[in-house]
Amino acid sequence: MSRFFSEKYRELEAYVPGEQPKGQTYIKLNTNESPFPPGEWVAEAVRSETEKLRLYSDPESTALREALAEKLSLRPEQLIMTNGSDEALNYAFMAFCDDAHPAAFPDITYGFYPVFAKINRVPYTEIPLKEDWSVDPDDYRKVRGPVFVANPNAPTGLQLPLSGMEKLLQANPDRMVVADEAYVDFGGDSALRLLDRYDNLLVVRTFSKSRSLAGLRLGFAAGNPEVIRDLKTMQYSTNPYNVDRLAQAAGIACLSRDEYNLQNVREIIRIREGTKERLRGMGFEVTDSRANFVFVRHPAFPSSELRDRLREKGILIRWFNRDRIRDWNRISIGTEKDMDALLRAISAMLQTENEERKP
Ligand code: PMP
Repeated sequence: MSRFFSEKYRELEAYVPGEQPKGQTYIKLNTNESPFPPGEWVAEAVRSETEKLRLYSDPESTALREALAEKLSLRPEQLIMTNGSDEALNYAFMAFCDDAHPAAFPDITYGFYPVFAKINRVPYTEIPLKEDWSVDPDDYRKVRGPVFVANPNAPTGLQLPLSGMEKLLQANPDRMVVADEAYVDFGGDSALRLLDRYDNLLVVRTFSKSRSLAGLRLGFAAGNPEVIRDLKTMQYSTNPYNVDRLAQAAGIACLSRDEYNLQNVREIIRIREGTKERLRGMGFEVTDSRANFVFVRHPAFPSSELRDRLREKGILIRWFNRDRIRDWNRISIGTEKDMDALLRAISAMLQTENEERKP
């Protein structure tokens, strides 16, 4: 830190994203990206947009918002497009949290939430998940400020049923509930259909996972038009051209042939369910993940060691040095071939382990 760094950020610990290795080619199962590339028509749309790059992008992402609104059966004014869904989440912390309305979220969830709270200098409380890692809406009864729920949750992959989401919404109509649905396409139940009934609901989504565009940075939030206008006030006060021309063009192209994405999603779900079964067969405890990753632990194999040993074999998975989940690993779902390589590597490790333990 330089001596010029503002006092107000001295305590800030930045979010640490998963490793993006350079050079050596790894089987990358550490950051929940899609193993499938976007369709060629997306690249085509990007190419033809490049000649317009001397012009700023449309700050309203009008054409993309209209295409998305049609897809989701919403009105365009219920949507804001953002630079990844992280930006939408940050806007929500900026717009809706303050000293009188502290943020609340589970103790085990997306690690960026506390960082968003800190950078915006708003108080927050972390509410412990139940023993089985479920969210109990009753634990949030007394919370006055916005509640952030990743649904399905990360890194557990577990989902809060819509009835639970409704309980959170009904408990206090004067507080926001932000449903972070980054992984919802992989088997979750979306809160989008509750939008007409609850004006305190904001649904945040991304093109990063189910639509294979993590590197493009495209996300969005859906809510009632007044709430969306609040987020736009944040957008226009920080980065009016938040979604660039290439991202807008790519997003439209991506949605124009969405059946390709949905086919990939079905394939990822199929591979996930097979992977769960095979891991359970090897003695792993595996949560009922509805996301594009599995969350696992092995009684005989320390989780940080599993991560390190797999890395040596060219496979990246994630380990979080955090209370309650230190014994666990999160493994993104790759192609069938990726998962075969993973399971072969783990199986070989377990075998050596067993042999070494024999008298
Ligand atoms: N929410 C959750 C729960 C996530 O895991 C992620 C991805 N790391 C995001 C939001 C943000 O994704 P993006 O900014 O790529 O849309």
